[in-house]
Amino acid sequence: MSNILTLNAGSATIKFSVYHAGTSPVLRLSGHVDALGSDDATLTVGHGESRHFRHLGPIDHAAGIRAILEEVASEHIVAVGHRIVHGGTEHDAPALLDEAVLSDLEQLSAFAPLHQPHNLAGVRAAMAAFPQAVQIGCFDTAFHRGHPWVNDAFALPREYYAKGIRRYGFHGLSYRYIAEELARIDPDGHERCVVAHLGNGASLCALRDGHSVSSTMGFSALDGLPMGTRCGQLDPGVVLYLFQQEGMSAEQISDLLYLESGLKGLSGLSNDMRVLQDSGTKESQQAIDYFAFRIRREIGAMAAVLGGLDCLVFTGGIGENSAALRAKVCADLGWLGIALQDEANSRNDPVISDGKVVVRVVPTNEELVIARSVFNLLDRQGSPETP
Ligand code: AMP
Repeated sequence: MSNILTLNAGSATIKFSVYHAGTSPVLRLSGHVDALGSDDATLTVGHGESRHFRHLGPIDHAAGIRAILEEVASEHIVAVGHRIVHGGTEHDAPALLDEAVLSDLEQLSAFAPLHQPHNLAGVRAAMAAFPQAVQIGCFDTAFHRGHPWVNDAFALPREYYAKGIRRYGFHGLSYRYIAEELARIDPDGHERCVVAHLGNGASLCALRDGHSVSSTMGFSALDGLPMGTRCGQLDPGVVLYLFQQEGMSAEQISDLLYLESGLKGLSGLSNDMRVLQDSGTKESQQAIDYFAFRIRREIGAMAAVLGGLDCLVFTGGIGENSAALRAKVCADLGWLGIALQDEANSRNDPVISDGKVVVRVVPTNEELVIARSVFNLLDRQGSPETP
């Protein structure tokens, strides 16, 4: 049986899935290694209803990927699809990963130092484990490559744009999945749509007819909304001040902005929304207030970009599960035509408002987008391994 493996190597978690390459991808098993870098990383593997765990101890990314590859070693893997955070200005679609493409992508590590090297290490490890399999990269930036120039550029001298200093946008695999789901659920319904991907990473995307026209994330995965541990939008003058007046090094500033800020920094407690909602401290409440306020503010900005709004979608761990957060975000958006049905919201119904603006909860599935992309690419190439 021919199978497709997907690998999604994030900063603290590596997710994987194995799909049977039938007429469309069918999930066989999936799992993840989490708590990388802590004392007790764990491999979880799910197979239908059953689930097993293996404690891996204190391991790094490379060892996490090795543990996953050992787990799937007996599968007949014909292709591996990799989530790759940065495809630069060139990649607007999934690509076969050969040495030339890999060396281009390595150059982009400077643009995404906390993610790209892990993604590419995953590619190298999968190449060694499955030398016969094709390796395919699916880029988080690709979905946003069609942005109009005003949403792509910074107001810097033009040579910086030429050097690649642009607003790339991220979470593109999640947004592609949502756009495809919306097209399936309601093909004519959603000309102007804002998608709120609210997880440990968080951003908004404005979709016009299913195509991305703007994202709150920019050059890096730091901009836009506050996140679990990332600051979101910040006056660049703050960075200059920390560097020039506080004497902080580039590495210290990077740690501050990526790892110590956002919900964690504001609450002084945790990056985990569930912990904050349960804690009851003033600081946790302020962190949630700040998060909701910035989401609301950016939804207004995206509605301005789109010239109005037909649909708002919540996705990601917080967006899919926290009725309280959704209610807080929507509370003052009546002027946009948003009126939540409280009961539908608290039950996590797929449609939580069908007023002037339809508000939906759509669980995202980045792994399935990777598997479909791999499948389509193999199919186009007429691989003998796919039907
Ligand atoms: P993700 O990165 O998409 O896996 O999302 C992780 C975030 O989702 C964390 O902040 C979790 O606390 C949050 N989350 C997951 N389930 C819930 C829930 N039932 N209520 C509130 N937040 C949740």
